[in-house]
Amino acid sequence: MEIDRVDLEPDELPKHWYNILPDLPEPLPKPKDPGDGSRLKFLEEVLIPQCYKQEYLEDRYIQIPDELWEMYIHAGRPRPLYRALRLERRLKLKRVKLFYKREDLSPTGSHKVNTALAQAYYASKAGIETLVTETGAGQWGTALSYAARLNGLDAVVFWVRSVYNWKKDRRTFMKLYGAKVYASPSRVTEAGRQGLKRGEKEGSLGLAISEGLEYASKKPNSAYALGSVLNHVLLHQTIIGLETKKQFEKIDMYPDVIVACLGGGSNFGGISLPFMHDVLKKGKRIRFVASQSMAAPNLIKGEYRYDYGDTAEYTPMLKMYTLGHKVRMPPIKADGLRYHAAAPIISLLRHHNLIDAVAYPIDEMAVFEAARLFVETEGWLPAPESSYAIRAAIDLALEYEKKGQEKIILMNISGHGFLDLYAYRKILYGRGR
Ligand SMILES: *Cc1c(COP(=O)(O)O)cnc(C)c1O
Repeated sequence: MEIDRVDLEPDELPKHWYNILPDLPEPLPKPKDPGDGSRLKFLEEVLIPQCYKQEYLEDRYIQIPDELWEMYIHAGRPRPLYRALRLERRLKLKRVKLFYKREDLSPTGSHKVNTALAQAYYASKAGIETLVTETGAGQWGTALSYAARLNGLDAVVFWVRSVYNWKKDRRTFMKLYGAKVYASPSRVTEAGRQGLKRGEKEGSLGLAISEGLEYASKKPNSAYALGSVLNHVLLHQTIIGLETKKQFEKIDMYPDVIVACLGGGSNFGGISLPFMHDVLKKGKRIRFVASQSMAAPNLIKGEYRYDYGDTAEYTPMLKMYTLGHKVRMPPIKADGLRYHAAAPIISLLRHHNLIDAVAYPIDEMAVFEAARLFVETEGWLPAPESSYAIRAAIDLALEYEKKGQEKIILMNISGHGFLDLYAYRKILYGRGR
């Protein structure tokens, strides 16, 4: 008998997040403002105070407040770790073992809930009444709408118009949580009106961020929440990797390879950073692989330099692997992976050769085929973004198997695909197929 699921009891949920800042190979370059410093001040004023503080903390472990810890349990944490036995058999793997972490089992269907709950909790404690944000694929907007409502706050979401237009069900989902949702570019902000004037009908994540920041700066008792890239977001997401470490301890195994998809870097950081600690401080050897789209291969084609986080240059500059903040990225179904730059923490680790990256073609066929194989064998429906991790893990597994190497590969399933069946239909069964 072989049990292919590793669970933790609710009381085994870690009580701390892991902060990698003190363990990095060199200090993380600080945000910079080429102007008079007003952008740095603006960011401090517009973010949730506790989250802003967490950008710079030097403690290695940060306690998760009790009430938030209870909310994590309510939201289904700890989440299971699965051995992909059926997928292994299909791929005829003898030496390679595949595992996957189930962040798809979240109330709104993605890992984003981990930071959304933390941000909404800290905001409510600080007397903030409205949380404002942007969203691209819609996962972050949904997670924040959920977390805001559960913490008694209002949410305002600026959603990239090209996606807003076709994801009607996800819009309904956000509205069920009581969120106010605007298609971006909108007419409610100056940044939006300028975008419309320039003829940017489709919108972009960078422009939606600009709109949200402007809106939040004008609305009393509001704050801006970000779903990826920043240090505090990656910090909150480390709950994924910390749980997974305990789960591997339980079965007396340890991963050789960790694979996750990467847009801004939050789910990749979430599963990787607690293991990166072992690499940096305990001499462990792990291969970390970020799986990207050729539409936004920031870690592969990007330059490591200071750049803005948004199109309208409201944010300070961060040192990141970037394609340039004004770059145009072709549309793909895995919208969550379309961001011009990777998180500063991830970028620094990449700069030190601690992270590998691969990118898949924009027709996404290879990725959706991998997702289909996963559905046929494991039965769970992954988000298009998560399917990039599955594709890369399968490719690596076959490579190691061919070379006769014993490896344990861990992949992160960052979300489910129930609201993305349209994308599956288009890619796998479109054009008469
Ligand atoms: C947002 C999202 C991503 C990409 O964002 P990261 O910050 O790189 O993790 C990946 N998968 C899902 C399901 C998402 O919602």
